[in-house]
Amino acid sequence: KLYNQVQDLKGNIRVYCRVRPLVPGHSNTLSSVDHIDERTITILSHSKNGKEAKKSFTFNKIFGPSVTQAEVFSDTQPLIRSVLDGYNVCIFAYGQTGSGKTHTMTGPKELTEEGLGVNYRALSDLFHLSKERKETISYEISVQMLEIYNEQVKDLLSSDEIRNSSQNGINVPDANLVRVSSPSDVINLMDLGHRNRSVCSTALNDRSSRSHSCLTVHVQGKDLTSGNILRGSMHLVDLAGSERVDKSEVTGDRLKEAQHINKSLSALGDVISSLASRSSHVPFRNSKLTQLLQDSLGGQAKTLMFVHIAPEYEAHGETLSTLKFAERVA
Ligand code: ADP
Ligand code: MG
Repeated sequence: KLYNQVQDLKGNIRVYCRVRPLVPGHSNTLSSVDHIDERTITILSHSKNGKEAKKSFTFNKIFGPSVTQAEVFSDTQPLIRSVLDGYNVCIFAYGQTGSGKTHTMTGPKELTEEGLGVNYRALSDLFHLSKERKETISYEISVQMLEIYNEQVKDLLSSDEIRNSSQNGINVPDANLVRVSSPSDVINLMDLGHRNRSVCSTALNDRSSRSHSCLTVHVQGKDLTSGNILRGSMHLVDLAGSERVDKSEVTGDRLKEAQHINKSLSALGDVISSLASRSSHVPFRNSKLTQLLQDSLGGQAKTLMFVHIAPEYEAHGETLSTLKFAERVA
């Protein structure tokens, strides 16, 4: 409800910007972030002749480096809750490698309760709320985990370790859809998904930064009085790193990867900006990612883009291009 009240004319698309802290121990590192307030971020850069330039960008919300995981979640929670009312929700983490996408969505490597990211918090919240409503609506919650790498979709939950899996995923017909009933079920599945993801990264060490990972939550609710069924879904997407690679420096597989990432991120930008401008043609077919999410973007669906900023001055070129991407969809 709150989510609907705070919507502006752009409808169902919101953009949040999160700035990672400077890496501790590098106290002399300069930041490109000149100023942050509730809705505006100002980036400092220098031209070749040393002239200082400042550029400001405005979004629905800016989270500074000291904002906690719990605070980020509290601004995301109303959106997530609408899944139980039958809405489709997509949450994206965008930014260059190392800017904090996985931190926001999953959490730091050494997970503590405080560090838990949006994924875990969202699912716990859904379980909690569905229990509160159990006298009136009976909910079933199931999840899928997919990876898109080089425009190929891989099911991260297909493994003998999964029992009870059904074969009727909604977006990817043959991807495992696994029924979950507690936060610990979800944590186990995510662990499995992360293990499956790293199994494939033999040849190239950090494949995770060059593929999109998507955790999809399907919710089905049955009204115990009327018998009516409602369906909602939520896609939580940790996107591939948005950094541009220098075409003169990479060749072969690395170049192919970069081209696929480029293509799918710009396809995503095109889709969201044409939805935001209510254009009559939305180019969903231009990438696997947008094809996969077609039914969950647009219409009544709600979209949240988290753009991530690495504050180091050396990153300011990427930072500006990240913010320009975000500005286009905001
Ligand atoms: P990405 O997924 O975009 O490549 P990561 O989420 O892996 O980036 O973040 C890079 C590093 O910075 C990790 O060690 C992560 O724990 C840390 N980090 C990112 N965001 C924050 C934050 N808001 N607060 C503290 N540490 C962070
Ligand atoms: Mg990551």
